[in-house]
Amino acid sequence: MIPSVLPTYNRAPLEFVKGEGAWLTTADGRRFLDLGSGIAVNALGHAHPALVEALTSQAQNLWHVSNLYQIPQQQALADKLVEHTFADTVFFTNSGTEACELAVKMARKYFYDKGQPEKVEIITFDGSFHGRSSAGIAAAGSEKMVKGFGPLLPGFVHLTFGDLDGVTNAISEKTAAILIEPVQGEGGIRPVPDAELKALRSICDEHGLLLILDEVQCGVGRTGKLFAHEWAGITPDIMMVAKGIGGGFPLGAVLATENAASGMTAGTHGSTYGGNPLGCAVGCAVMDHIADEAFLAEVNRKAGLLRQKLEGLVADHPEVFEEVRGAGLMLGLKCAAANADVVKAGYDNELITVPAADNVIRLLPPLTLTDEDIAEAASRLEKTAAQVAAA
Ligand SMILES: *Cc1c(COP(=O)(O)O)cnc(C)c1O
Repeated sequence: MIPSVLPTYNRAPLEFVKGEGAWLTTADGRRFLDLGSGIAVNALGHAHPALVEALTSQAQNLWHVSNLYQIPQQQALADKLVEHTFADTVFFTNSGTEACELAVKMARKYFYDKGQPEKVEIITFDGSFHGRSSAGIAAAGSEKMVKGFGPLLPGFVHLTFGDLDGVTNAISEKTAAILIEPVQGEGGIRPVPDAELKALRSICDEHGLLLILDEVQCGVGRTGKLFAHEWAGITPDIMMVAKGIGGGFPLGAVLATENAASGMTAGTHGSTYGGNPLGCAVGCAVMDHIADEAFLAEVNRKAGLLRQKLEGLVADHPEVFEEVRGAGLMLGLKCAAANADVVKAGYDNELITVPAADNVIRLLPPLTLTDEDIAEAASRLEKTAAQVAAA
């Protein structure tokens, strides 16, 4: 009999009832160190007092009104994002994949309005992930995600990750945009080198294409800059954001330059819930903490500390771990053993990590993790590695 919850997930037999900082507690009182953050979502950890306050005080006044009216919390969050990024304008969604839908629509509409309606194709890369909507799966194009769900939304050209020559060769009169994650998340924590992001920006400029960055996982302080592309010293035309921006409340956004967004006039796009007062009140509190030099400096310091521990772990357990990769607090351990076994052994040691493609386990801790949490993470990873090695 089919479970009452549609069984599209293989769930671990863990049920958490409370969270605080980087820690999750089960009903039977076990305390887990959370290096997953609900997949890079709980950027300020669990039950951060400022987020609890933002959500509950908003909840006492107004939950929802519709985008037919002014929403001051939405205006405030858009202003903050515009102030701190390349963007001139922002549309709010409830998720990353909805941001992908709009990014694709925006790019196509841009060229349509410029009298180039043939420009509809978007270049993407293998190992990428842009969510589970029809546009998201068509954009990523992996067999695992698209099989059985055709006909797919046309207009995506899939290239090998890192193949810059392939990009130049793939550009035609139909090409509208290049879509890429600055650091692939689901694909196994694969950072795009700065030089490559710079080259993609130049290619877009040279051919009049839009550069769309998917920072749903790597954005909002995760890599130690507010957004990951800042490391490369480039800016996109359109950027997808979600996960960390809501700190656990469902919230996403598309950020764009005035030029890239020029086709999106009244009536061309919408969302019932996107940008609602609850989500935006929380998003403002998240931005107030993370868009701060001192906070980001701490993320970088702690990332250095954690990475150093992980390098030691790899050196001590080559039979379990092959290498450390990633940026900031978006780290991956490429496993020599099966990554699923490592994640499972982690659970035995009250430690949460997240598997990814390419036999990697992801470490995406709350950005607020403490030095003591890092020491505890190292010790639990050590025990986990020893357990896997002994199995
Ligand atoms: C998670 C993710 C998405 C999809 O976000 P949802 O909120 O699950 O729809 C898109 N892109 C990237 C890079 C992601 O990590």
